[in-house]
Amino acid sequence: MHCFNHQKTSAVCACGVCLKGLCKECMQPADDKFVCSLTCAQLLQKITRLNNYAMSVYGINKSGGPQKVGMRTAMLHFALGITFIGFGAYSAVHFGDWGLTCFASAVGLIFVVQAYKTYKRGLRL
Ligand SMILES: [Zn+2]
Ligand SMILES: [Zn+2]
Repeated sequence: MHCFNHQKTSAVCACGVCLKGLCKECMQPADDKFVCSLTCAQLLQKITRLNNYAMSVYGINKSGGPQKVGMRTAMLHFALGITFIGFGAYSAVHFGDWGLTCFASAVGLIFVVQAYKTYKRGLRL
């Protein structure tokens, strides 16, 4: 690939916006890329801002992984669910109270299902 402005000079990089080939003389640093002109530099700024906004909407951080907060919530709900189910089993064995067991197990199950849903959603993002 040759420089867009200098047909005889080979390009060392390409504009991060319009993908024109650029030689050492023509390349201009902008953010973590190189651009060919001020117009492209401004465009790149706009794109970066838009993308950052979109990533924040979808809960994606800069490293590209799912947000840790969602995972933490899932773990918390899962632990709560297990505690409720455990309490239900405990009350069945020690008190013989099956009404309480059913109630605790149902609540525990809801928490576990909720945790699973949150976890799946975290993975998809
Ligand atoms: Zn350009
Ligand atoms: Zn050039």
